[in-house]
Amino acid sequence: MLMLRERRPAYRTIKGWAIGIPLEAGAIKECPEHGYLQCRGDPDARLQAYETACEAPFPGATAREAVAALHDVLSSIGDTCPDCR
Ligand SMILES: [Zn+2]
Repeated sequence: MLMLRERRPAYRTIKGWAIGIPLEAGAIKECPEHGYLQCRGDPDARLQAYETACEAPFPGATAREAVAALHDVLSSIGDTCPDCR
């Protein structure tokens, strides 16, 4: 389960970047109590995150690699926090 405890102005890894992009787009959010990432079920926000990944990929990565990393993150995040249930 992915957790995000701190936010950095610049992402050091493509994985951190791939979490930050959908967070900024509003496609995912953190549980305010537990910090688990949850999908918000907003298709427009997901699309926006993919567009950002294509247009401004992680430095050193191709658009294809950036989209793949984003896809990995989004497909690993559920729509509920496991500790809230
Ligand atoms: Zn929770």
